[in-house]
Amino acid sequence: MAPESVKRDWSINDFEVGRPLGKGKFGRVYVARETKTKYIVALKVIFKEQIEKYKLLHQLKREMTIQTSLHHPHVLRLYGWFHDAERIFLILEYAHGGELYGELQRSGHFSEQKAATYIASLTHALAYCHEKHVIHRDIKPENLLLDHEGRLKIADFGWSVQSTNKRRTMCGTLDYLAPEMVENRPHDYAVDNWTLGVLCYEFLYGSPPFEADGQADTFRRIMKVDLAFPSTPQVSAEAKDLITLLLVKDSAKRLSLEKILEHPWIVLNADPNLICPK
Ligand code: AMP
Repeated sequence: MAPESVKRDWSINDFEVGRPLGKGKFGRVYVARETKTKYIVALKVIFKEQIEKYKLLHQLKREMTIQTSLHHPHVLRLYGWFHDAERIFLILEYAHGGELYGELQRSGHFSEQKAATYIASLTHALAYCHEKHVIHRDIKPENLLLDHEGRLKIADFGWSVQSTNKRRTMCGTLDYLAPEMVENRPHDYAVDNWTLGVLCYEFLYGSPPFEADGQADTFRRIMKVDLAFPSTPQVSAEAKDLITLLLVKDSAKRLSLEKILEHPWIVLNADPNLICPK
């Protein structure tokens, strides 16, 4: 039984804390077990001092509010949170498979089947988020986790916004940012569609398409949509077609999420057993 259906006022005494799963910018993440139900979760511990130092309380609250409201099989659940004098604890769904980034590093690049399965999962999750007026804006392999069966989960809503209007704030990592974001122009949902194109490329080739030695060069390559497909590894024409339809400078002309799911490359390659539309 998921923790949220059991109780709402949590404290650290409700959990048996196990091994550390990783270290983030503001604290550590541990595997933990809710004592009563034995339900396994990931407990993210954030030091209040750090949050105050970087004036991030507002952003954290936003992240928590947004993530709590999202209930989708490909979006990591935030079940609840609590705090003591020094720390804030987030009770998160446990992603046993860890970071997708680790898997990509280990294998160099993914097969077309695996890449298409991840892109389709992400597309379903983003369609759900967009329906709820949430733009993630910081989708990158480090923010994608895998469950025990290898299903993708979007995590880390630190940079996401809940909005119905066009936004104008610079955020995220340059490599994954759409031209309108690197230029700090108003942007909307289509920034996530661009990022799907970047990720699709990275999954298939092992590195993002506009990678360069310095930020200035990455910036220039994004603005020119300087897209090249290396000859190795071999990638199908259909995959390149999808990437080309997503990496379009004019955000209004990018392939829609609906059309991504109908694209022949996705239809042919994505594994329906690992994709949960809702
Ligand atoms: P973060 O502070 O969110 O960057 O998390 C630090 C690291 O902890 C990540 O890179 C993951 O490897 C791991 N991690 C975070 N959240 C979870 C989770 N819900 N399940 C499993 N591992 C996690």
